[in-house]
Amino acid sequence: ARKFLVAANYKMNGSIASVRQLIQQLNESKLDPDVEVVISPPCIYILLARETLKPGIEISAQNVSDKPAGAFTGETSVEHLKDVGATWTILGHSERRQYYHETDAVVASKTKFALDNGLGTIVCCGESLEERESGKTVAVVEKQLKAVVDAVKDWSKIVVAYEPIWAIGTGKVATTEQAQEVHVAIRKFLAKEVSSEVAEATRILYGGSVSEKNCKELAKQADIDGFLVGGASLKPAFIDIINAKQ
Ligand code: 13P
Repeated sequence: ARKFLVAANYKMNGSIASVRQLIQQLNESKLDPDVEVVISPPCIYILLARETLKPGIEISAQNVSDKPAGAFTGETSVEHLKDVGATWTILGHSERRQYYHETDAVVASKTKFALDNGLGTIVCCGESLEERESGKTVAVVEKQLKAVVDAVKDWSKIVVAYEPIWAIGTGKVATTEQAQEVHVAIRKFLAKEVSSEVAEATRILYGGSVSEKNCKELAKQADIDGFLVGGASLKPAFIDIINAKQ
C-alpha cells in the first residue's frame, strides 16, 4: 500500500518567527502515525527547521540546481540541501514553470540530478484553465511527465504532485471527481510508460486550494495518495490536513 504523504509548500512566505511557530505547532500536535509529513520552508530557513523540528518529519526544498557546484550565482545545490538536512525537493512547480521559464527538459534534468545525488523529488504537473477547457488536461500532464520518464530509471524516490494551475491559491479546488480522474490517468500513463509496479507504488499527491474543509473527501479517493499544500500549510489547518484520513 502507498503511504499517505502530506507536504507543505510555504512558497516565498514566512520569517524566522513564523517558521518557529509553525514548527512548534507540528512538534506539539498529534499527527497520524500512518502519514509521511514533509515541510518545504524557504531555503534560507531549512537549517533552522531541521534543528528545531521533531524527528520523523522531513524537510524539502522548493527547487534545486541541476549543477553540482561552482560559478552559478544565486543557485542552491543538492549538496547544500543535504548539508542542512533536507531530504526532498519539490521540482517543476507551476510557479517555477510560469515565472522562471522552467521547461519540461529543465524539470527532467533537475529531477535526474537530484535523484542521482540522493534527494527525493516531488515532481509537479498540472494544466491551465484554458488547457482544461479545451480538453487538453491529460495530454498536458502526460507531456510534462514524459520528460521525467525519459530521464530517470528509478522511480522509488519520486512522488508526483498533480496541481491544476486554476486551483492554486484561488480557493477553487478541483472536485474530488476531477482530481481522481486525472490521478487515474497519471497512473495509467506510468503503467504504460514505466511499469505496472511503478504505477502501483508511486504516490500521486493532489495540490490546489486544499483546506481543512475539503481534505477528508479528497483523501477518500482511491488514487489520491496525499496533498501538496500551499496557503493552508501556513495555518493551524495544516494539522487537520495531515490527519485527513482519521
Ligand atoms: P494553495 O494550497 O495555496 O492553493 O497552493 C497549492 C500549491 O501550489 C502547493 O504547491
